[in-house]
Amino acid sequence: TELITTACAEAPDRAAYRSSGGEISRGELLRGAEEAARLLRRQGVSPVIVCGDKEPSVVISMLACLFAGRAYVPVRPDTPPARLRRTAELTGAGLALSERGISIEGVECLSQSDLPRFAGREEPDQPGDTAYIISTSGSTGDPKGVPISVGNLENFVRWILALEPLRDFENVCVFNQASFSFDLSVADLYYALCGGHTLVAADSDVLADPVRAFDALGQCAVAVMTPTFARLCLLYDRFRAEHLPLLRCIYFCGERLDAGTVRKLFAAFPGLEVINAYGPTEAASAVCAARITPETVRDTAVLPVGDAANFATEISVEDGEIVLRGKSVFGGYLGAPAGGSFRENGVNGFRTGDLGRIENGMLYCLGRRDRQIKYKGYRIEPEDIETNIARLDGVRGCAVIGKKNADGTVRLLKAFVETDADAQEIRAGLEKLLPGYMIPKSIIVIDELPVNANGKIDRRELEKL
Ligand code: AMP
Repeated sequence: TELITTACAEAPDRAAYRSSGGEISRGELLRGAEEAARLLRRQGVSPVIVCGDKEPSVVISMLACLFAGRAYVPVRPDTPPARLRRTAELTGAGLALSERGISIEGVECLSQSDLPRFAGREEPDQPGDTAYIISTSGSTGDPKGVPISVGNLENFVRWILALEPLRDFENVCVFNQASFSFDLSVADLYYALCGGHTLVAADSDVLADPVRAFDALGQCAVAVMTPTFARLCLLYDRFRAEHLPLLRCIYFCGERLDAGTVRKLFAAFPGLEVINAYGPTEAASAVCAARITPETVRDTAVLPVGDAANFATEISVEDGEIVLRGKSVFGGYLGAPAGGSFRENGVNGFRTGDLGRIENGMLYCLGRRDRQIKYKGYRIEPEDIETNIARLDGVRGCAVIGKKNADGTVRLLKAFVETDADAQEIRAGLEKLLPGYMIPKSIIVIDELPVNANGKIDRRELEKL
């Protein structure tokens, strides 16, 4: 809170946040968030669902929750009502702030202007120490809640502000691509707000229109994005230094960055700084990063994701798995089994499920131990989709796979379903249960799923279909 307040108070007239929904100055952001925080403190203590895309009110609401000591739960506006209700149950949210007129069963849904009428108590409630709760895909078919404490977040913010070369930028524009419900956005939001920069956020309409997306990107010296988004940008002629002369640094995180993409980036933007950061939602956005240079991509196929010189928390590789301990690590899931989370001598730990190795002080991430995939930057447990398909009438069995490109990235989600219904009916049923990005593009009705010698679904066989 102090880091944000100090940065905003320093130059109150400068823009803090810009999106197609409008621009707000640092002073307006601070005043708006402090005012809403005062009301929130008198409204209760439960976590607050903040539902929206990139409109300035979303940022004001998230900061207000942080100032009030009430965890915010960022959700996308295209989340189906059933999943929203599960998210509310899981997090214990009693209030939702949104300018989109949403309703969630059992939750007080208000717009910011409604707050004064519902902030009834004289005495403010005690602040809690959870900063935000992000829900991620869970293998049980319901989202898992990942609560990140103020201490976890602060450790991350101090780390990213000190990270080279990000620490050298002064009063620049920072590009935000990711949705606020995805923890990659924690990097651009807090780097910009606490570092005294302007966050230029692209909403889903802007991202769908290359002309507008490049206009937003063209204002920025630093961009935070997924490798998938960079690959998309590289398809356009406009994505090069002549047209985007301000762009100096891209910070990647959230999925594997391949050397081929970086080589193309260096060709389009000579002198570009490229950062490959790594970390799960469970450890506050990112725990390490490596600077990728033209030399790195000349010699190596697998790029490093972290340099031991700047680990944000303790990182080790145990039995081939990347294990995190310390200040960045969350204290356990809401509404789900412990998973990889553990506590040891009073310190939080997390077994990430990522396979890795540390060599010459550099961390490499080599894939997953489980079936978790990244699709267009989104983290998805195929079991989550399978469980939701199995909930539909008439489904006897199903399997979901991520169909891969030659470079290992997931090209499309494919579902094979044993059912009497047709693919259209399955799709319509899923739309009520899952957010759009989790609905398989290809749904194939199949008489019988192939089975291997162990009596399990033969996923290799499915890959070939
Ligand atoms: P999320 O919780 O959505 O941030 O996803 C975290 C997972 O994304 C990690 O456990 C990794 O599997 C993957 N991941 C994140 N950053 C990288 C990276 N730089 N390289 C490879 N995989 C990554």
